[in-house]
Amino acid sequence: MPELPEVETVCRTLRPHLIGRRILRVDVRETRLRRPIPPDFAESLVGRVIQGVRRRAKYVLIEIGDGDHWVVHLGMSGRLCVGDPPADLGHVHVRVGLDGGETVYYRDPRRFGLMLVSQGEEGLGELGVEPLGSDFTSDLLWGLRRRHRRVTVKSLLMDSRRIVGIGNIYANEALFVAGVRPTRRFGRVTRREVEAITRAVPEILTRAIDSGGSSLLDYRDADGRSGGFQQRFQVYDRRGRPCRRCGTEIRGRLVSGRSSFYCPGCQK
Ligand SMILES: [Zn+2]
Repeated sequence: MPELPEVETVCRTLRPHLIGRRILRVDVRETRLRRPIPPDFAESLVGRVIQGVRRRAKYVLIEIGDGDHWVVHLGMSGRLCVGDPPADLGHVHVRVGLDGGETVYYRDPRRFGLMLVSQGEEGLGELGVEPLGSDFTSDLLWGLRRRHRRVTVKSLLMDSRRIVGIGNIYANEALFVAGVRPTRRFGRVTRREVEAITRAVPEILTRAIDSGGSSLLDYRDADGRSGGFQQRFQVYDRRGRPCRRCGTEIRGRLVSGRSSFYCPGCQK
């Protein structure tokens, strides 16, 4: 499932193709996504001019004026690309034609994605703080620690009602940088460690965005490219291999049902 860096990369690569373009045609071939595409979806988009593309949590928000957004969530396997769709149109559920002649198409074999038109952030559910925003501070995390002492630090980082966009891969990688084991109860994390986590999360996400995301997450950017960050994983999916920093064998275990990796030498 794409995480924050992948969705951010999709937004950045969509922007040059989309901004200033008028939507001429919308062709919905399959409405059955995680939530069905609403019947008035095409009608709400045709004729609108795209003014911006931004990310909120793991949603792509395409601004179409009057505070309305064309909202796309990539689900598990969704791809929002610009160009010619594959000739057989397999799993291509939506095609949108723009006045510059380009086509934006949505392809999603597993159909866990979502597509709708919303006013503002209406209908996106309860969304926590953006980890790349100015609200993501050590005071915020320390405050959360008081109320969530029994959950593991990794589960808290992945709870989108508190902090959005961090999935399993980047939670593991950020905790390596912070020197904190993913298995630790949040209530046992010190103030100094909370400060290290507050620095590590945006650092890892920014590095991943700079690499165009990770190709392990079954995603492509708007130009059809995959990312390269998986080559720089420190712990994720490296169980039994030597830590790149200290040589200790990386351990892997399940935390709240998700695979978690850490270096016993570098993480306390
Ligand atoms: Zn190590």
